[in-house]
Amino acid sequence: MEKKYNSTRNRGLQIQPKQAIIQGLAADGGLFVFDDIDKIKLPLADMMDMDYKQMAQVVLSALLFDFSEDEVKQCVENAYEGKFDTQEITPVVFSGADVICELFHGPTSAFKDVGLRMLPQLMSVSLKQKKNQKVMILTATSGDTGKAALAGFQDVENVGITVFYPDHGVSEIQRLQMITQEGNNTGVVAIKGNFDDAQSGVKRIFNDVAFRRKFKQYNTLFSSANSINIGRLIPQVVYYFYAYKRLVEEKRIRFGEQVDFCVPTGNFGNVLAGYYAKMMGLPVHRFIVAANANNVLYDFLTTGIYNRNRPFHKTISPSMDILISSNLERLLYYASDKDANYVSNLMEELNSYGKYQVKTSILSRIQSLFSTGFASDEECAAAIKEKYEKDGYVLDPHTACAYAVMKQVQDSEHVCVLMSTASPYKFCTGVYEALFDEADSDEFTVMEQLEQKTGTKAPQNLKGLKEKPIRHRDVIGIGEMKACVAQKTKELLR
Ligand SMILES: *Cc1c(COP(=O)(O)O)cnc(C)c1O
Repeated sequence: MEKKYNSTRNRGLQIQPKQAIIQGLAADGGLFVFDDIDKIKLPLADMMDMDYKQMAQVVLSALLFDFSEDEVKQCVENAYEGKFDTQEITPVVFSGADVICELFHGPTSAFKDVGLRMLPQLMSVSLKQKKNQKVMILTATSGDTGKAALAGFQDVENVGITVFYPDHGVSEIQRLQMITQEGNNTGVVAIKGNFDDAQSGVKRIFNDVAFRRKFKQYNTLFSSANSINIGRLIPQVVYYFYAYKRLVEEKRIRFGEQVDFCVPTGNFGNVLAGYYAKMMGLPVHRFIVAANANNVLYDFLTTGIYNRNRPFHKTISPSMDILISSNLERLLYYASDKDANYVSNLMEELNSYGKYQVKTSILSRIQSLFSTGFASDEECAAAIKEKYEKDGYVLDPHTACAYAVMKQVQDSEHVCVLMSTASPYKFCTGVYEALFDEADSDEFTVMEQLEQKTGTKAPQNLKGLKEKPIRHRDVIGIGEMKACVAQKTKELLR
């Protein structure tokens, strides 16, 4: 039988990877999944001798089965060659007693670059089979996706991109990164609401059939750069294998030995990529899902009840300020033995009541692989200080949440890899205040002070922001998103 992806809400809704990448979300609102992912067994032993790009070739070819080897190779090359400040792409640092996989060496200094350098490449190849097809990428961001997506899609032919971010809901550096974005096909809009409002607004537009039909006349369709798109999710699988290889290489583990991964989590994309790696044969003992004060995932993983009806907290780790973790739907799909009806009902409940509860059998299955914890802003700040004073290593606030949680739940039997998702310099004020005292200067002065006091270097792309002109100034209400998309689509995809 031909291999296909299908919707988490309807197994009959089937589609090839290229089409799934173009579309982003399934027509029924579900996410695209590949049923037989656990039957793929990657050549793990061989992969221990590969570099990052070779591993990417293996992983992507296995999951994107309608891409030719050459197409994948070209995408990997274009996405990564010369774009990261290290040949390794995601270097693993052995710091004191900790193993840290640094995912933030890409052009925008957050782990989102790993997926979002690749997605535009995959999308371009996928679009080749469609004459005159234009795509408008709509993306809600809690801070890091926006910039990484803008940078990735800048000036890509026949593609426009509009990013919505929560006004006052991202760090100053994140905001400057986005509103100074260049390119004739890029749009950046602040909305008066939080990340969930932005994400729900975008999903509503995807699900608005009449609206979509109107643009279809002009050969334009809407797609997503969020981790609901398999073209962004799949590249993230690679660094789990890479981290494992480095552990073997450094003789921290024997080949075949199981390890833990601790992942700062928001939309559940990063840790889900780890779960995919495990399904494809990576020896993982468990994943530690780390949350901040918005601990909806912690509650779910401990009780089986997902309830988004709760206060939204603004924290010093803004990219994890999320109450609706979209990718959890994919885990529910696999954990329920691919019961699309069941998943569809849960999502219906989430939509109508803001909550759902999973069956005990499913919860236990999930708990056998996923541990969890969360850290308040105070605990997160304390973690930044502790790690710095002990080993001279500066954590960003998101990674610090995970560090705090790792220290709570880590066992002594398994090596645990801390997934580090951003450069601390994206969050200068929060980090500076955790380490020293009140930061009473502007963000760029604090950046310099942080460099001087810690003897570390800020990434060049962040330092350079100071000189860049502001290009995007729109601020709109949530109710205005649709009209805004219509206007941006005309403007950017002429
Ligand atoms: C996006 C982001 C996260 C959360 O990742 P998910 O894939 O949404 O779970 C964590 N840390 C940083 C720095 C991020 O940008």
